[in-house]
Amino acid sequence: EDVVNKIAAGEVIVRPMNAVKELIENSLDAGATEITVSVKNGGLDLIQIQDNGHGIELGDLPIACQRFTTSKLKTIEDLKQMHTFGFRGEALASISCVANVTIVTKTADDKCAYRAKFYEGKMIDKPVPSAGLSGTTITVENLFFNCTSRRSSFRYPKEEAQKIADILVKYAIQYPSVSFAFRRLDGGRNTNDFRSPGKGDQHETIRSLLGTKTSSGFLNFEFTDNRLKFSSNGCMAAPVAAFSSTSLKANQDKHKNFFFFINGRNVEFPRLKQTLEMVLASNDLHSSFTIVSLQIDPARVDVNVHPTKSIVHFLEEEAIMERIEQEFLKLLSGVRT
Ligand code: ADP
Ligand code: MG
Repeated sequence: EDVVNKIAAGEVIVRPMNAVKELIENSLDAGATEITVSVKNGGLDLIQIQDNGHGIELGDLPIACQRFTTSKLKTIEDLKQMHTFGFRGEALASISCVANVTIVTKTADDKCAYRAKFYEGKMIDKPVPSAGLSGTTITVENLFFNCTSRRSSFRYPKEEAQKIADILVKYAIQYPSVSFAFRRLDGGRNTNDFRSPGKGDQHETIRSLLGTKTSSGFLNFEFTDNRLKFSSNGCMAAPVAAFSSTSLKANQDKHKNFFFFINGRNVEFPRLKQTLEMVLASNDLHSSFTIVSLQIDPARVDVNVHPTKSIVHFLEEEAIMERIEQEFLKLLSGVRT
């Protein structure tokens, strides 16, 4: 069974970034308003997520990394609502199968924090009282130490660190009220470290994290489709003429700057990106940055086509795409060049 668990874990946690994404989603679920991510050696030696969320109750700590245990489902009705979006208590379990996990956590009611270490889903020792503020700090060390070929396949830790920074930027923009910080602990100067403002202003957050790319303002959108039962909101960096010299350079990194969230979770959705690019191109426009956030009944979403839950499909996808395309066209009709 250990082998099966390890293989399953390796499909969920493919690279350091996957662990970071799961851990920050847990921090957000815990209501955190400050999340600090520290990494060493691209996350391979150390990933540490510190949050100020509601913490884990002492009684729940022993099973935190156990497979299929989650505090997020209380009833069968919840399960129907949520199982398609992957609240399955698999993330910590998977991480603990391919790394050494330490949790330090304190709820508002606890007098002190508690620390416990985990391996292969099991708590190794009894939790010990420890210093710590309210919230949770999860430390993941020696990722893939027991899958040596996987571990040695990461030959450029700097790229892994960059992927982690990229995912943090996405979440910081989607959750502008939360302050996200990123720190590299490799020694020396780390000019790429950052902290998002966390003051609830999405445009300010984008400017602070993506800088000059978005200096000319934003177009916002927000709409609800009652028939298709979804709503969407987001913003786009003010588009410019497609063949201006600045846009040529911007074109080169356009693929990095399309962010898509569904029910608060970042996922890949190449089809929507293509649609948006087509709409822009047909208007001879280019935009350096777009974030689209979709709220849709979880029962209509299927995230299980990919173990990392990074690709989604949903019911009436065609109609939903068309509706979004219409909204983009409307949005752009105001900025003809
Ligand atoms: P899931 O998120 O699907 O419930 P996880 O394996 O990601 O499963 O986490 C297991 C459980 O550990 C969660 O249900 C939650 O109760 C607890 N947990 C994990 N991270 C945190 C955190 N940062 N703050 C509070 N509780 C947490
Ligand atoms: Mg989780």
